[in-house]
Amino acid sequence: MIVLNDVLKGKHSVAIGGHIRPDGDCVGSTLGLYLYLTTYYPEIETDLYLEEIPEAFQMMGHRDVPKHEIVEGKVYDLFMSLDCGDARRLGFSEPVFQNAKETLCVDHHISNESFADTNYIVPDASSTSELVFRLLDEEKITEEIASFLYMGIVHDTGVFQYSCTSPETMEVGAALLRKGINGSAIIDGTYFEKSYVQNQMLGKALLESMMILNKKAVVSVIRLKEMEFFQAKPSDLDGIVSVLRQTRGVEVAILLYELEPQTFKVSLRSKEIVDVSAVAKYYGGGGHVRAAGVTMKGSPHDVINNLTLLIERQLRAAEEKNEEK
Ligand code: AMP
Ligand code: MN
Ligand code: MN
Repeated sequence: MIVLNDVLKGKHSVAIGGHIRPDGDCVGSTLGLYLYLTTYYPEIETDLYLEEIPEAFQMMGHRDVPKHEIVEGKVYDLFMSLDCGDARRLGFSEPVFQNAKETLCVDHHISNESFADTNYIVPDASSTSELVFRLLDEEKITEEIASFLYMGIVHDTGVFQYSCTSPETMEVGAALLRKGINGSAIIDGTYFEKSYVQNQMLGKALLESMMILNKKAVVSVIRLKEMEFFQAKPSDLDGIVSVLRQTRGVEVAILLYELEPQTFKVSLRSKEIVDVSAVAKYYGGGGHVRAAGVTMKGSPHDVINNLTLLIERQLRAAEEKNEEK
């Protein structure tokens, strides 16, 4: 466990960064920490580096806080990387991380290989937002900071549903609710509410999905030309893979969407057997046991074949283990 006061001692400038294509936990943890530092450590120059915050989080405010570009040669006393499994995934802010005098990583990805000088990595934690809560002085958490941390936990736990939701997660949720936040509005407005385009893409992905691996997996592919036709952004596809995962009898859900011709972002979700983090990591990605991602090149057919090879191997190993019992 690290102590925030010790980490910040003697620091005059701090940069906070999160992963590319920021999700709810990334936005919640980085902005929660940013607001805490600017409120209670005004003497420290604090900057937040993050790609454009998706529309879904607009109601939370502060969308204009993050910097989207770096200043060549700027050196910070400390770079705090949040919700990011490896330095490459910091994207445009990676050079700021590399140039910083000291680096700190706060994360919950099992694939994280402790890439900073100091690492606070808890793979069992529901979210980075839960870890940030543990770093802060509870008394000093304002209603606004609490709202951001709550949003982060809500998104990474699928509204306190996924297996990463622990008793401690619920206790942190309770503590945040006691700050007077409007929890149901945050859940409704940032998690469940979808734009028309998002619903269209969801419908399309469900309709065109295929059952594979003896109906143990379901896969759907969204091509670049389809995204262009519907004017859908990658963030408009958030949540689709979780709906695919709800299919009865399925252990693994796979969503592929084309980032550029023949390059696919792959999202993987599982229920209780397959370690999708291991599958993603094999091809250069990462994540959690039940939710992981990776970028892969080739035709959709090749990508699916490569993925199913490893998934099938895990399913078979689990079956054999069951037969032995
Ligand atoms: P996603 O499918 O994008 O929602 O990602 C599921 C989880 O895996 C998230 O915690 C991501 O941070 C992580 N993840 C997604 N893509 C990658 C990648 N290319 N490399 C490492 N981790 C990833
Ligand atoms: Mn994330
Ligand atoms: Mn996270």
